[in-house]
Amino acid sequence: MCRHLAYLGEPLAPQELLVLPPHALYRQSWAPREQRHGTVNADGFGLGWWADGDEVPARYRRSGPIWADAAFADLARVLRTRSLVAAVRSATEGCAAGEAAAAPFAAGRWLFSHNGALAGWPGKLDALAALLPAAELLELEARTDSALLWALTLHRLRAGAGLGDALAGTVADVAAHTTGRLNLLLGDGRSLAATAWGDTLYHRALPGLGTVVASEPYDDSGGWTPVPDGSLLLVEAGAVTVHRLPSGS
Ligand code: GLN
Repeated sequence: MCRHLAYLGEPLAPQELLVLPPHALYRQSWAPREQRHGTVNADGFGLGWWADGDEVPARYRRSGPIWADAAFADLARVLRTRSLVAAVRSATEGCAAGEAAAAPFAAGRWLFSHNGALAGWPGKLDALAALLPAAELLELEARTDSALLWALTLHRLRAGAGLGDALAGTVADVAAHTTGRLNLLLGDGRSLAATAWGDTLYHRALPGLGTVVASEPYDDSGGWTPVPDGSLLLVEAGAVTVHRLPSGS
């Protein structure tokens, strides 16, 4: 199980969320506190962020551990962004290694991340894969369950779905054909959506700044609200709402 985090609000330096807090994503790469599957998250990492005035986010991803990358610490210090999606990865057995398999995945103005695993990957998912046109399957960013989940989500986004409906649709697709742990995270620079489906998820308001959504709290400040399993969380226009997904995991 990987760990991920997203932010939406006033401009800040990514290091305020990802590096400086005592249990930030950086530290979660070797010492997560609430991870139920896997131990360390050293199989790659990624930061995606939106720059003011540009709808298409930039990404910085690497295939190795976040703690071994000096450039990341510099980037996280000097950047300023109103929204970001970041992740550290613990690769699931049978899933490809490498930078292309590290979240966040991207297309157009969207960024996507997945904590979890899809039962049956890669051999028994023909029915799920058959939901996608062949051209979209060939475009998979990596041979991983997460990339397949991203392709299913992107298919709905391209058809005009909102972030929440796109994630809920992917969860429903999986539920119809197999099982899995599906903590998904999606942003478009102006809003965020996330699912709690088999693993922990929290959100927190940063007064005067914005909202953080994360797999686990990055400090013990007490401002963190757990999201019930089987839920969809939306962050839009400064408001956080939590909705029950149709069938609990
Ligand atoms: N299954 C995904 C991968 O291998 C996500 C892994 C995770 O959540 N640990 O990349």
